[in-house]
Amino acid sequence: MREQLVLPLKLQQSDGKVRELQTAVTQLPAKLDPLRRDLAKLQGMLDGERGKLDETNSWRRSQQETIDREREALRHAQNKFQASKNTKEFTASSREVENKRKAISDRESELKKVNEAAAQSTAQLEARDRDVEALRSELTGSEAAMSGQLDALKAELAEATAGRDAARAQVDPQWIKIYDAVAAKRGYAVAPVVKGVCQGCHMALPPQLSNVLARMESIQTCPRCSRMIYRKELLEAAPEAASDAKPDAKP
Ligand SMILES: [Zn+2]
Repeated sequence: MREQLVLPLKLQQSDGKVRELQTAVTQLPAKLDPLRRDLAKLQGMLDGERGKLDETNSWRRSQQETIDREREALRHAQNKFQASKNTKEFTASSREVENKRKAISDRESELKKVNEAAAQSTAQLEARDRDVEALRSELTGSEAAMSGQLDALKAELAEATAGRDAARAQVDPQWIKIYDAVAAKRGYAVAPVVKGVCQGCHMALPPQLSNVLARMESIQTCPRCSRMIYRKELLEAAPEAASDAKPDAKP
């Protein structure tokens, strides 16, 4: 009979193991989520900076084109200056040459500053690109390592599930019904009794029920929480006592 009494407890332990492994299998892939989020954020920032740099570069090109046109205009002005026939023409073309030179020089010095800033941004962007690449390869490595871990966990889960199914098959169908109903209602269906108190609901059991439990002849349930109950010292101490009784090979 003792074997019959221990079966629901074994089933509960197997169920617990299966649930624990199911949680682990679900949660393991989520462990890399913070790294994935960091990577996406950095990539987003990098894309934004690259966009700004592209804008700057197209501005630089258009400035350079303007300067080229202005140089062309300056050459015309210089030709006019050299061809000036009187003081009036000379003064006017001289002023025009001066103005154009000044405009080109202003634009060039502004472009130079922007070019320097763009060179700096490009260097920063390349450094960040390398950081993002390093993070990405870290993630890839972790994902590869995790896939091995996950496979191992899934194999463990399959084994635990088979063990649970076997444990379930051993419990009498009438007790399975009760087991499932109480587990659904109260979280778990089998509770130890310690010093006459049900550890599922903390009710002190009637003394005669404690005596019935002590005889270990039948499965009993708690009058308050309906869990299947057993005297903790009688069932749980047993494996330890058995291993103590076994002569050990250790010196
Ligand atoms: Zn109870």
